Amino acid sequence: ETFTADPNRYESMQYRRCGNSGVKLPMISLGLWHNFGDAADLTNGRSILRTAFDSGITHFDLANNYGPPYGSAETNFGRIFKEDFKPYRDELFISSKAGYDMWLGPYGNFGSRKYLIASCDQSLKRMGLDYVDVFYHHRPDPETPLEETMGALDHLVRSGKALYVGISNYDAQRTRESSAILKDLGTPFLVHQPRYNMFDRWVEGGLLNALEDNGMGSVVFSPLQQGLLTNKYLKGIPENSRAANSIYLSEDRITPEILNKVEKLNAFAEEREQSLAQMAIAWLLKDKRVTSVLVGVSRVSQLQDNIDALNNLEFSEQELVAIEEILQS
Ligand code: NDP
Repeated sequence: ETFTADPNRYESMQYRRCGNSGVKLPMISLGLWHNFGDAADLTNGRSILRTAFDSGITHFDLANNYGPPYGSAETNFGRIFKEDFKPYRDELFISSKAGYDMWLGPYGNFGSRKYLIASCDQSLKRMGLDYVDVFYHHRPDPETPLEETMGALDHLVRSGKALYVGISNYDAQRTRESSAILKDLGTPFLVHQPRYNMFDRWVEGGLLNALEDNGMGSVVFSPLQQGLLTNKYLKGIPENSRAANSIYLSEDRITPEILNKVEKLNAFAEEREQSLAQMAIAWLLKDKRVTSVLVGVSRVSQLQDNIDALNNLEFSEQELVAIEEILQS
């Protein structure tokens, strides 16, 4: 079954400009951290990617070590890309990253020029791409001079391997410093990728201001706090859930305090006639500095649920206050 993209794929998705750049990103983007490794069902993965693209989701987010095993999400994406999306390459905005542990030895982790350039080359090979649209440094490395890391990102752009660059998990101060260096170098510094959701709001303490001041956008990850901000854990931990299966979300993080808030948020979302996942996504998008909300999904129905967040993005002042009360309770 060859894939032919839906001719109506751009009719309902909404796009936001990424900072002051020329690039617009879909307000919902798709991340391949989970559900695309070698243990995952790739027929399911392919359906997720097809549904995303057919819904106007042009942005797919990867990293060198997504899997497991490391590298396998990129390899599997590459296979599906070759079969389904190759004719649509210019309609896609694909990212990868390096910064966490990837291969053995001193050059497979952190922020050296050596690591970043080699890793980007590896990612391109695995995905079967000539270039990525954005390449990120995945996390700050306090032991490598920022000039070196930013110089490596600059090099990737100049050698045609990345069109834009970004950083992830950097605090506001380091983001400002990175921006100053990249401005001097003339490197297109497009975007920051921070965690942001109702339960983790660190970006409100200065990062979003830093991005705005420097003309950058944000693609925010774990908008549902890995699934906690949905109704899925209200009646226990389902067998096929991330909490039951992933090392990245341990069951002990689903505490009675969290569930108590989730219960109240869920009831509030019901009053708004949307799912909690939808309300959590809409709540992030109320800030125009959030360019795109980067969701992960284990099945197509979740993706559709999340996309439908765009049907109700409005919050009254009273609603925002009420949500704030729940979050602070
Ligand atoms: P989410 O917070 O969206 O969590 C995704 C998980 O939540 C899904 O796999 C699914 O879990 C559950 N879920 C999603 N939608 C629904 C729904 N509508 N109803 C019920 N459950 C739902 O995001 P992720 O944590 O997956 O992060 C998204 C992306 O962000 C990643 O793929 C990656 O690209 C990026 N990321 C970047 C990081 C960085 O350091 N830069 C770090 C982490 C992520 P289940 O399996 O239980 O069904």
